Amino acid sequence: MVVIVGIVVYYLIKAAFSSGEKPHYESAQFDDSAAPAPVPKAVDPPLVAEVVAALHADDPDFEAETFLQRAEMTYFFVNRAYQRRDAPAMQPYLAPEVFDERAQAVQSLLAEHQKPAQIDLNVCGMQVPSVVHGTANDRIVVHFDLVSRERMLDDRTGKLIADAGDDRRSGETWVFSRKAGTKTVVSGGVVAAKCPNCGAPLSLDETAHCKHCNADVTTGEHNWIVTSIEPSDYVGTNADEFLGSQRLSPDAGFLAIAGSDPAFASNEFLKRVATAFDALQTAWQARDLDAARGFMSAGAYYARSAQVDQLKEEHRKNVLEGLNIDSITPLGVMHGKVFDDVMVRIDATCAEYEIDDTTGKIIFGDKHPNPFAEYWTFQRGVGVATTGKAGTLEKQCPNCGAPFNVNAVGECTYCKATITSGKFDWVLSRIEQPENVVDYWTVGARAP
Ligand SMILES: [Zn+2]
Ligand SMILES: [Zn+2]
Repeated sequence: MVVIVGIVVYYLIKAAFSSGEKPHYESAQFDDSAAPAPVPKAVDPPLVAEVVAALHADDPDFEAETFLQRAEMTYFFVNRAYQRRDAPAMQPYLAPEVFDERAQAVQSLLAEHQKPAQIDLNVCGMQVPSVVHGTANDRIVVHFDLVSRERMLDDRTGKLIADAGDDRRSGETWVFSRKAGTKTVVSGGVVAAKCPNCGAPLSLDETAHCKHCNADVTTGEHNWIVTSIEPSDYVGTNADEFLGSQRLSPDAGFLAIAGSDPAFASNEFLKRVATAFDALQTAWQARDLDAARGFMSAGAYYARSAQVDQLKEEHRKNVLEGLNIDSITPLGVMHGKVFDDVMVRIDATCAEYEIDDTTGKIIFGDKHPNPFAEYWTFQRGVGVATTGKAGTLEKQCPNCGAPFNVNAVGECTYCKATITSGKFDWVLSRIEQPENVVDYWTVGARAP
């Protein structure tokens, strides 16, 4: 009997995740370019670096780092729209053919009364296996390493009809394309909720034309659009080649940072990490990330806020009782041309449990303290100076000093600086669980 139940559950899960979940979509509009590699394997660093340099020469505002930040945000926005079964919300980012396929997947979820309820989504890594600066199009292939727990609810009963049971690793390969001659939209375009053509607040009609200037934002003539989404494997990877960055040991990395920021002190930095850890865990338990938003990158913020939304929706409250940091260990520094990334391991102890906010009853965990570890990565622009002045951690704009207040993409509402981009102050850009941290960090960074 148990075996039969197991088999039925397996097929339910399989059916739920094979119907419209992560299929392969390719836009015909951009067929003139070579088919993208489904799984990134061999990356040719000199070639990628050469093409990035050529792109930058013809489009001086093109920056690999900013492109990747926006690609990650695009991933979160499209995924969030799918989770909410809100097809129009994903339209601005997708080529028409890709949008049609995704919209159909949303339609069939609605028709079958299936409501996705993914939890723990984390983009663990990104890689750029191929960049093309062509005569017809520019094309950048981005591989995402993902961890999530996929679940499906019946929207009539609210009951779980499928649950992968634990966090699973997967990958997706997305192709971002634009027509030759298209230039980087400095203000951010659709990921900043602005029309990439006229800059007005993004408001589209049902055919993806800006209601203000009538430009079709999904042609690839104004901005990068997603022309293909394919499932692939988790490969445990990084974008070093694309970014031209170097992995350094903590000592060598801190020296490299201090080289352009003499006031940088690693012990002060680690104190800052502890403050950020406490502030985020407090915000997390309150299910309101506003207090932590200033020191989180857009990607880190959207990943966590999706989890907070899910907790609220399910009336769950996560409690980390008696939380205490046991140690913070620097693991390495990724020293890039534009950003420095510092990864630390935080060991802490607490009693973790979840309560149902309608009954106050414990539904998961207990009050027994247990040790746990998380890997946190902080990012800041190369050459940003440590000033000792208040910044994102103190809820002030590090650029103009105004009280922290940002729009949807992390721009200060006073001075318009993108203060959660890492270009002004340290931001938390990634949170990873030990089991998903790639070996090159855990076994020690490469020597310079
Ligand atoms: Zn417009
Ligand atoms: Zn400001």
